[in-house]
Amino acid sequence: MQCGGFLPEAGELQKMLASARLPQTLVDIPERIILCRTSLQRIYSPSGSFKQFPVAGRVLDRRAFDRHLAHRAAVSGARILPATRARLIEGQLHLSGRFRGLVRPQVIIGADGPHSMVSRAMGNPVQETGICLEYEMVDVDIDPHAAEMYFSARFAPGGYAWIIPLGRDCANVGVGVRASYLSGQRLPQILDRFIAEHPVAREKLAGGQAIAVMRGAVPAGGSPPAICKESYLLAGDAAGQVMATSGGGIPLAVLGGRIAGETAAGYLQRGEPLKDYPSRIGREFGIQLSRSVQIRRMVDVAMKSDTLMNSLFAALSPTQMKSVMRAQIPEIFLSRAWGGEESYQQR
Ligand SMILES: Cc1cc2nc3c(=O)[nH]c(=O)nc-3n(C[C@H](O)[C@H](O)[C@H](O)COP(=O)(O)OP(=O)(O)OC[C@H]3O[C@@H](n4cnc5c(N)ncnc54)[C@H](O)[C@@H]3O)c2cc1C
Repeated sequence: MQCGGFLPEAGELQKMLASARLPQTLVDIPERIILCRTSLQRIYSPSGSFKQFPVAGRVLDRRAFDRHLAHRAAVSGARILPATRARLIEGQLHLSGRFRGLVRPQVIIGADGPHSMVSRAMGNPVQETGICLEYEMVDVDIDPHAAEMYFSARFAPGGYAWIIPLGRDCANVGVGVRASYLSGQRLPQILDRFIAEHPVAREKLAGGQAIAVMRGAVPAGGSPPAICKESYLLAGDAAGQVMATSGGGIPLAVLGGRIAGETAAGYLQRGEPLKDYPSRIGREFGIQLSRSVQIRRMVDVAMKSDTLMNSLFAALSPTQMKSVMRAQIPEIFLSRAWGGEESYQQR
């Protein structure tokens, strides 16, 4: 389990992913799984100033959410094999752990995360990822209504730090960076520095304690070259289905999983071609996924310098920032100063 648990409300998701058919699992989430609700997204520049805009969000108990999905799958006929590892060798799955044996599937959907074995078997190169470290903290003095992002070359090189409320005095506090920006620093050093020294965050987190630690990787480069090959499909992190502007992967993983499942069922039940999978993904959220990567690449230029990042913050209104997070490209990014529409199209 590696997650901050932040998931926009269904209405926000539908505005962000206008062409997507949201599965019920993203709409009706049992209340016992929702730890708290937020109404704002607040974004801090390196200078410590902030801009905020309304976003209705849910913070999930991700462990409980995944069990809820497994429950729904089980009652719908799926066979769940917990505590079991699969190795893919020449089209066969070799199972070890609680369940052992050999499976020769007609279709394999690799939903096996950012270091996907199925993706490697399809010949994809290693994905570009961000690396993340997160503490669950208690006894903190945070704003329970706001999910916060902090940009700064010192406190989150090539990425951002976050505070996601888990209730009145608890929060997930983390940092996600690109390995190439680390210049010899270690991730715990960066997160501890953010908590102890960030001029704004330290006021909120001082005196708090970490009661759990989580680390993991987030795809940052969009889809690998192949998400469908022969009888293999990829979904979720394995398919790079993460909004590169925020690192949010729950919505696209659930959507990608639904589309992969429907494609596999169509193939087995009606002989429909598996090779339609990429275009089905493309129709529902392809534009948002590829634009989020394009925006991230453009912002990368600014991330190298706090001065540039502060200027970008100053230039964007809160509404434009919300658009950026939703992978809608504001006019400013298309101007000559940022390389213009031409270079945006070439990338
Ligand atoms: C620190 C951190 C914080 C994050 N916070 C958020 C957030 O707040 N909101 C958000 O939307 N997204 C967040 N994300 C991203 C989000 O967690 C992922 O995008 C999402 O979990 C992707 O789901 P998935 O099912 O594709 O992959 P995963 O959740 O990685 O699941 C893959 C599963 O496959 C299993 N697996 C892999 N290989 C094998 C094998 N060989 N045999 C058997 N099982 C295997 C793994 O054990 C795992 O259970 C965060 C990521 C990180 C690292």
